[in-house]
Amino acid sequence: MHLSARARGIQPSVTIAIDTRAKALQDAGERVINLSAGEPDFPTPRHVCAAAVAAIEAGFTRYTPAAGIAELRRAIAEKHRRDNGVAYAEDEIVVSSGGKHALFNAFMAICDPGDQVIIPAPYWVSYPEMVRLAGGEPVIVETGPETGFKLTPEALRRALGPRSRAVVVNSPNNPTGAVYTREELDALAAVAAEADLWIVTDELYEHLIYEGEHVSIAALRPEYRQRTILINGVSKAYAMTGWRIGWAAAPRPVAQAMAAIQSQATSAVNSMAQKAAVAALTGPQDDVAAMREEYRQRRDLLVEGLSSLPGIAVERPAGAFYVYPSVRGLLGREIGGRRVDDDVALAEVLLEAARIAVVPGTAFGTPGYLRLSYATARADLEEALRRLGQLLGGA
Ligand code: PLP
Repeated sequence: MHLSARARGIQPSVTIAIDTRAKALQDAGERVINLSAGEPDFPTPRHVCAAAVAAIEAGFTRYTPAAGIAELRRAIAEKHRRDNGVAYAEDEIVVSSGGKHALFNAFMAICDPGDQVIIPAPYWVSYPEMVRLAGGEPVIVETGPETGFKLTPEALRRALGPRSRAVVVNSPNNPTGAVYTREELDALAAVAAEADLWIVTDELYEHLIYEGEHVSIAALRPEYRQRTILINGVSKAYAMTGWRIGWAAAPRPVAQAMAAIQSQATSAVNSMAQKAAVAALTGPQDDVAAMREEYRQRRDLLVEGLSSLPGIAVERPAGAFYVYPSVRGLLGREIGGRRVDDDVALAEVLLEAARIAVVPGTAFGTPGYLRLSYATARADLEEALRRLGQLLGGA
C-alpha cells in the first residue's frame, strides 16, 4: 500500500531508538547504564502530582480550550515576566503536548514548501525532521569547540539565502550544554532582524545553568520579540517529561495560527496535566534549585572522570544535563575486540561490550562526538566511568 513521500522520508528519533535498545537489554536482565536519555531521573515534585490528583477528583476531565486553560496561560505569562523580563498576553501563549509539539506547531505555522530554516549543529535531533515534515528545508550550519559550539553572526550570515525563513537557537543547548551570552544572542538576533527571519528559540533547559545566566532573545529588544517564537516547557525543569506540557509564546498572529493548527490536530492538551503545570509554575521552586545543584555535582564528576580517559577530549558544559566529548582520539583503534572507525560504531561497542548506552554525535549532525546524559544517579555515573576505564584502558 502507498505511503506518502513525507512518511517515507522521515527518520525516527535516534535517541529514542537507542533508549529502546538499552531498555530491551535491561528487560533481558543485563545491567545497562543508560546515559542516552534526555530525561530527569527525579520524581515529579509532590505538590505538582497532588494538583493533578485534585483536578481528577474535582472532575476536571473534559476538553479544554485548544490553546490551553486560561489559568495555565496566565501562569506562563507571569513566569516569562518574572524569570525572563518579557511580557506576553494570554492569547500569545499556546500550550502543547511538550515543547516538542510546540516546536512542530511553530514550523507548521511559518514554513511554506521550500522555505529554509537555519539550524546550528550539533542540534537536537528533532529540528531537521520537523522542518521537513512542515515542508521546509533544514540548512545545517556546523559549529565546533572553537566557538564553544555556538552559532556566530558571521556563520549565520553566510547561511542566508533568498528562501531563508527562520533560525533556530537552543540555549542551553542539547547536546553540548552551551549557553549563549546576552551579547551573543543580541548579535545573532541583529542578523536575523536584518534578514527578516523568524527566531525559534528553544529554552527548555533554562533552569539548568551552572555558569552564566539564561537570557531570552525576546527580552532583548521589542523588535526581536516581534520575530521570536519562544518555546519552553516543564519537562526538564520540574522532572515532568511524561506529563507532556510545553508551550510557545509568540506574537499574536503566529500564536493564533499555531493554536488553529493544534485545534485540528489534537484539540488540546490533557486537562489534569495542565493543572499540574500551573502548580509547577506557581508553587515553590525549591525542587528546581535542588535538582540543579545535584546535576552540577554529577556534571563535575563526569567531566573529571572522562578527562582522565585516553582518547577523550571533554569541555565542562555550562548548562543542560549532557556532556559532549570528542572521541576522535579513539577512532581507528581496536576497542572491545572490534575496530572502531566512527562514533556510531563506538556507541555500539560501548553498549555491546560495556553495557553503556550513549548517543553518537552523528545523530546531532556532528560525527566524532558522543553525548552522555548525567540525568542519571551518581552511582551509575561512577560505574559507567569504571567500565569505560576498563574498556579504554588498553585502547
Ligand atoms: N527541546 C530540546 C532541546 C530537548 O532536548 C527536548 C527534549 O528532549 C525538547 C525540546 C522537548 O521536550 P518536551 O517535549 O518534553 O517538552
